[in-house]
Amino acid sequence: MSEPLLRVENLETRFYTEEGVVRAVDGVSFDVEEGEIVGLVGESGAGKSVATTSIMRLVEEPGEIVGGRVEFKGEPIVDIVEEDGERRRSDAMLSDREMRTRIRGREIAIIFQDPMEALNPVFTVGSQLREFIEINRDVSKEEAKEIAIEMLHEVGIPEPESRYDSYPHQFSGGMRQRVLIAMALSCEPSLIVADEPTTALDVTVEGQILDLVDALQDKYDTSFIWVTHDMGVVAEVCDRVNVMYLGEIIEQAPVDDLFYETKHPYTEALLRSIPRPDQRVDELEPITGVMPEAIDPPSGCRFHTRCPEAREVCPRVEPTHQAVGDGEERDHYVSCVKYEDVGYDDAPPLDTEATSAFGAGGFVDEAETDGGEP
Ligand code: SF4
Repeated sequence: MSEPLLRVENLETRFYTEEGVVRAVDGVSFDVEEGEIVGLVGESGAGKSVATTSIMRLVEEPGEIVGGRVEFKGEPIVDIVEEDGERRRSDAMLSDREMRTRIRGREIAIIFQDPMEALNPVFTVGSQLREFIEINRDVSKEEAKEIAIEMLHEVGIPEPESRYDSYPHQFSGGMRQRVLIAMALSCEPSLIVADEPTTALDVTVEGQILDLVDALQDKYDTSFIWVTHDMGVVAEVCDRVNVMYLGEIIEQAPVDDLFYETKHPYTEALLRSIPRPDQRVDELEPITGVMPEAIDPPSGCRFHTRCPEAREVCPRVEPTHQAVGDGEERDHYVSCVKYEDVGYDDAPPLDTEATSAFGAGGFVDEAETDGGEP
């Protein structure tokens, strides 16, 4: 099997704050194949955006990438090694200059959530697009302008020649997001990191942007890492999905398996909290409680304080990330002790925020909990 376009292995990013060390990304691993859209999904604070800024090497102080390796087209864009108890960048890891001149923009582009923040309000849309192309491609100013107009046309901006001279405030939110997509695609990168690019848009415009990305992805065969908290968006655009909780990936699966063969109670809770066209429910269920602080994550399984299926073993045992399912490919992974031989079935239920909110035992089948301690 060929090497993936991007391979992330055991990535660790911490923030050193006055309150303590925040383990924002804690041992995250996943691959992105050529032409694939890979989702990073979870609630706010799960570590999705820090994971992508770490891949782009854009983490700002007091944050620091302290572990792991990220390989892009076989080159180590992150490579932290440990020697004599000290962690340091390996000699092979690309320099900051190489990241700036060869990788970011040219090979890996990013689309931000808020186009108003990403675009400078005092320059025209066209001049910003042209300058980006001039910096990242070996073309003249005139050629860059031609490419910019072509890209505006490509992303569905009407009358691109005249809109080239418009300012960002003269565009609607959806049009500004189209400009950012044009900018990201203008250097024909192999990978685009889309950080919640449709969150600020209304549902109709979101649908148009998702259709546009789908069409452009087919045409250019660009890979995407799609960061979102919205399972509806995941269903619409992603090929494979990584579900994150408190800095860790707790379930990884092809998108259909994630929706129809869900394994992790957190993923199940995320899916119960959204409307689904394939299922009729009387009421949506919000996920109980709030995500704990990453400064002091819960012991064992980090989801145990909110999990309706938690048992006494869950705070004591750290789940292993392991393949589940009977498929030949074994490409569905989950971190939950339910799937391990650690005595989950015999353990009594645990009193958690979820079980207190829904009554002792929560969603746990009463037949299974007979005789157990509340
Ligand atoms: S390990 Fe326990 S607490 Fe964690 S998700 Fe599985 S059942 Fe819930």
